[in-house]
Amino acid sequence: MGRILAVSAVLVGGIIVVGMLATTPPPPRAVPATAAKPRLSREEVLRAEALPEGLTALTKVAQPKLPSREGDWLTEHPEEGQSLAGHRADCQPVAGRTIYLVPTGELQASAAGARVMDLLEPLLAAHFQLKVKRLPALDRAVAGKSERKNDLGPQWLTQDILEALLKLRPDDAAAVMAITTVDLYPDPTWNFVFGEASYDQRVGVMSLARTGDVELEKELVLKRSYGTAMHEIGHMFQLQHCVAWECPMNGCNHQEESDSRPLEPCPHCLAKLMRATGLDPNRRWAELRAAFEAAGLTQGVKEIDRELQALKK
Ligand SMILES: [Zn+2]
Ligand SMILES: [Zn+2]
Repeated sequence: MGRILAVSAVLVGGIIVVGMLATTPPPPRAVPATAAKPRLSREEVLRAEALPEGLTALTKVAQPKLPSREGDWLTEHPEEGQSLAGHRADCQPVAGRTIYLVPTGELQASAAGARVMDLLEPLLAAHFQLKVKRLPALDRAVAGKSERKNDLGPQWLTQDILEALLKLRPDDAAAVMAITTVDLYPDPTWNFVFGEASYDQRVGVMSLARTGDVELEKELVLKRSYGTAMHEIGHMFQLQHCVAWECPMNGCNHQEESDSRPLEPCPHCLAKLMRATGLDPNRRWAELRAAFEAAGLTQGVKEIDRELQALKK
């Protein structure tokens, strides 16, 4: 789905600044060689951006984004990243306090799909500090309108599902997310997509087709589905892909890259979520740690303990 991109001209006090000012240049001054500072990279600038009070200590335990390798998201889709100021300009804090999940197509008939959805609900509620409820199922006749086949079986077009969600979105929705066990494609030229969300209409869709068997590898399947759900819902709250830190908001092009992302947002993406939903970070850590523990997602418990440790020092 289309994204709203930041405009390139800057409006200052009603005047559009186009990059140059017609003034006489000052006389050149001698600058001592030692005063020259190396230019910071875009990622370093984003990592150095001031955080809300109480989050700065988290930068001690956050992992700066590792270099992108061949086939990784940023190698294939170079991105500028989004500053806190850029997010503030794009994000209207949510008025609705409920995330609605919509079981879609085959999910109703799949015991494994229904189980993943049950497990996801308390994790998403704690992470975003919003209520999570379900809407009636979206029929396969609507969701699978542009069905095509691949080696996993049927594959549905994300756009069909996103359009259907817009029609059933309740007034008090902070976000609406369809979940299906059917594989997805976003465009006839792509082979698949884990999920997709609208940046400005707060609807999204994700697939469980590539997460694995929840009965055999519950923790891995839960980690993958929670990772995709919170990433896509993060987009609905105007978070763009994170390029500064290793973060669940990193774009990912393949399963290995997706699996290597942490579960906890980086300090800057957490600050963006605070802005979007008004969440209290301390309450979030306490409730999410308990939800990770109840779900048996030990990686999440460990990540939160590291964050809490850093904040104590
Ligand atoms: Zn994304
Ligand atoms: Zn991030």
